[in-house]
Amino acid sequence: MPCIENNKSSETDCFEEGETVLLVDRKNRRYLLSLTVGDEFHTHSGVIPHSDIVGIHEGTLLRNSRGAAFLALRPTFSDVVLKMPREAQIIYPKDLGALLMRVDIFSGVRVLEAGVGSGALSMALLRAGAVVVGYEKRQDFCEFARENVERFCGRELLERYHTEVRDVYNGISETELDRVVLDLPEPWRVVEAAADALRLGGIFCAYTPSVIQVSRLYEALADSPFGLSETVEVLQRSWHVVGAAVRPDHRMVAHTGFLTTSRLLAQ
Ligand code: SAH
Repeated sequence: MPCIENNKSSETDCFEEGETVLLVDRKNRRYLLSLTVGDEFHTHSGVIPHSDIVGIHEGTLLRNSRGAAFLALRPTFSDVVLKMPREAQIIYPKDLGALLMRVDIFSGVRVLEAGVGSGALSMALLRAGAVVVGYEKRQDFCEFARENVERFCGRELLERYHTEVRDVYNGISETELDRVVLDLPEPWRVVEAAADALRLGGIFCAYTPSVIQVSRLYEALADSPFGLSETVEVLQRSWHVVGAAVRPDHRMVAHTGFLTTSRLLAQ
C-alpha cells in the first residue's frame, strides 16, 4: 500500500487507490482515509465515494452528497501523527520536531527507544534515518506500532526497526548505542542501564509530562556519569490572522511535556 513517503510519485500526480488522503472541511476539521474503491467517506454532512477522489489532483475542492466542501490533500507527517490510530498517548509533532534536533538524529544513528506506544516517536526517528531498537512491555502495543510504521511510513522502514516485548527497567542488552530515548513513567530507573549501553558522548533523552518526574530524573543523573543535562518545554501558540484581527488564538495546547537531555561523559 502506498504510504506517505511515496505519496507523490504517480505520473499524473493524481490520487491513486491505496493512497492515504487528508480531507479538510470548512471548519478545518481533518480526516485521514486510505483510498479504497467501493468505500465511502461518511460524515453527518453527507457522503463522498472514494472513487470520486481517485484520479483528482492534490489541492482540489470536493463536494459531498449534500454539497459540503472538502479539500483533498496528501497528509504531512504531522497530520498523520495527529490522526493515526493510537492506543497510548503520543508525543505531539511540536515536541517530536524539537526532540529530533535536541537528540541529534541523523542517518544511521543507533537509537534505543522505550516504550514504543503507538509508534509516533518511532516513525519520527525512522523517517530521520535512525536505526531503532524499541522496547515495549505490551505485546499489543508493539504490534500496533509496527502496523502504524508500515502503513504510514512504508515497509522499507521496518528493516531499520526492531521491536522487543520487554521491560526496559530490567536492563538494556544493546551496547555502543548512540542515543537512548525514553517516553515512560520512571525514566530515572533506566539511567544506570543507559550509561552502560551508550557510547561515550552518547545522548540520553526522556520525555516526561510532569516536573516531579524531571526532578527525580535529575537526582539519578547527578549520581551517574551523565553531564550537560538540559530540560526544555516547547510552547507553540498559533495566531488568528483575518483582516485587521491579528492576534493570538484564544486556545492553545498549553502543556504537553518536558524534554530532558544529558550526555554520557568519561568518568
Ligand atoms: N512515544 C510513544 C508513546 C509512548 S506511551 C509514541 O509517540 O507513540 C508509553 C509507553 O511506554 C506505553 O506503551 C507503555 O506500555 C510503555 N512502557 C511503560 N513502562 C515501560 C517499561 N518499563 N518498559 C517498556 N515499555 C514501557
